[in-house]
Amino acid sequence: MQDRTHTAETEPGDEVTVAGWVHEVRDLGGIAFLILRDATGRIQIKFEKDEMDDELVETGLEAARESVISVSGAVEEEPRAPTGVEITPDSVEVIAPADPELPLDPSGKVDAELPTRLDNRTLDLRKAEVQAIFEIRSTMLRAVREEFHEVGCTEINTPKIVATGTEGGTELFPITYFGREAFMNQSPQLFKQLTAGSNLERVFEIGPIFRAEEHNTPRHLNEATSIDFEGAFCDHHDAMDVVEGVVKAAYEAVSEESADELETLGLGEEGDSEFSVPDGEFPRLSYEEAIERVNATGELDDQLVWGDDLSTEAEKALGSDVGGHYFVTDWPSEIKPFYIMDQDDDLSTGFDLMHPRMELVSGGQREHRYENLVEGFEQQGLDPAQFEYYTKMFKYGMPPHAGWGLGGERLLMTMLDLDNIREAVLFPRDRQRLSP
Ligand code: ATP
Ligand code: MG
Repeated sequence: MQDRTHTAETEPGDEVTVAGWVHEVRDLGGIAFLILRDATGRIQIKFEKDEMDDELVETGLEAARESVISVSGAVEEEPRAPTGVEITPDSVEVIAPADPELPLDPSGKVDAELPTRLDNRTLDLRKAEVQAIFEIRSTMLRAVREEFHEVGCTEINTPKIVATGTEGGTELFPITYFGREAFMNQSPQLFKQLTAGSNLERVFEIGPIFRAEEHNTPRHLNEATSIDFEGAFCDHHDAMDVVEGVVKAAYEAVSEESADELETLGLGEEGDSEFSVPDGEFPRLSYEEAIERVNATGELDDQLVWGDDLSTEAEKALGSDVGGHYFVTDWPSEIKPFYIMDQDDDLSTGFDLMHPRMELVSGGQREHRYENLVEGFEQQGLDPAQFEYYTKMFKYGMPPHAGWGLGGERLLMTMLDLDNIREAVLFPRDRQRLSP
């Protein structure tokens, strides 16, 4: 804006115009302080009542908290001010008044429940901790993009309105598309494969996935951000190398560029819990080793046997045993999707990347042989004819390829030790919540 010459980060000595929100007013009688907040931080505005124009003092001190105001004046050093400087105003203008009754307190002095916060997300985002989460989310996604480019990938965007799901009718949101049934896509799986089978070869996408999950958990959303990779001439080992690089790049960027935000979240060097970049290679445990290790912890009532999926309890037990990120590889074919390539009769090339708290990634090498793929659809009880738009491309030279999907909100939530995945997305979609 033309009128705004500086942000709250301004230095002493300048004549400035700043604009932002009224964070708080402290009236000490003869003198009063208004704290003005903007994206960069906070700055103190000093009102000396006897020495200033009454109207100016009144405008400043009567502006309700969270009103948007602009202030012009000289910036002076003041060691007692929160940032070491303060402005003595020549003029104050209320640009957008706020209702004195606020549904939540952005200064964070009064805690609000998550539903209230999400119903009033704009006010909630004015809190430093909430702002920090989304600043870090942005840094994380930029680092992920850069790492993909670093390893020779092209960014793609695939349709979100689709004719068929990846794994059939479950977990899909149906919609009406010009009188026909269609669905919101649950994964870019088929489309990224169709793209990797071209000269683009190595592709990535960061986009929404929609899952009609019935359950309500702290780690499931009905609309999530999926970070996807698919690479031609890659096997599952290559795909694991790529995802390990992407996850580490995200942590490194946040560590290097978001020190202030981590501090705000209590994750800095002085904080209660710690943020640390994962070091060393992520261990790659075979499914067989994984279930043996879970059983050896003695944490489960029932021992796992070959063919069992890892339950939430099993993931927890294994997570605290391993103590960091790890892969589970060589899953039994029978519990991985049919489009995952088998190594032999029993073992698939499927893998998961786990954080000690939860699953982050599923991936594997894909079945690229036409006959086997069509057979897989039939075995899954799906009509291959419905997927002809996809399978037919496997008749025209589909190279071996592998890939994975990484939950963006889960990456952020585990990185920042957030309790609930809804903290990691601006406007979460869950069973109860469709607006804002
Ligand atoms: P889970 O078993 O934890 O529900 P999944 O195996 O069903 O996950 P995949 O289909 O393997 O999920 O999807 C790949 C990744 O996408 C998951 O590892 C996870 O990080 C993320 N993801 C999947 N579903 C959701 C969801 N409903 N909300 C948030 N993230 C999700
Ligand atoms: Mg999975």
